[in-house]
Amino acid sequence: MKEIQKFIHGFRGFQEEYFRSDHELFNSLQKGQRPKVLLVGCSDSRVDPSLMVRSEPGDLFIIRNVANLVPPCEHDHSYHGVSAALEYAVCHLMVEHIIVLGHSNCGGIRSLMEGIPDDSHNEYISKWVNIAARARKKVLDTFSGSTPERQAKACEHASILVSLENLLTFSWVRERVDAGLLDLHGWYFEIETGNLYSYHPASGEFELLV
Ligand SMILES: [Zn+2]
Repeated sequence: MKEIQKFIHGFRGFQEEYFRSDHELFNSLQKGQRPKVLLVGCSDSRVDPSLMVRSEPGDLFIIRNVANLVPPCEHDHSYHGVSAALEYAVCHLMVEHIIVLGHSNCGGIRSLMEGIPDDSHNEYISKWVNIAARARKKVLDTFSGSTPERQAKACEHASILVSLENLLTFSWVRERVDAGLLDLHGWYFEIETGNLYSYHPASGEFELLV
């Protein structure tokens, strides 16, 4: 119960801060949301996008999942939660930027690299992280002699690129990118240093952003 009490107390602070000191913001947000940015982040509790970039309510439309992955466009009758949120952000909210935010020490990417047993407790995780299977293959081809830690970091980077590529398999993403209405960004947060890196297509590297 102690954990829940902590959050109830936290919510009181949020309520006071936003409903009393920033009433104007909440008055405007009651009418609807107009975020300009969609962020795809990991479910990892250490990487909280709103906290990290100090965004206000209404600033960021966020999708969080294991290993911050975007699946490819698929036209079948499965439940496509990520694709549905992506469709809403791009086609209805008309966001102008999509940030895929990866991070170091990602458990999802580690399980992809190590391979996890295909048992009843990994049924969904195993299939999900395999969205980035080509990132794993690339890393094993390029960094075959490296330590598991180095390989994991390379795969965290490469999987962000897989998600950026998969975004372009959705026709309405590609059309808006081609028309100059939508920009895609690959970001990487390094937990151990607190640094934030951004992918630069020209150099093919993640370069220090902050
Ligand atoms: Zn993660």
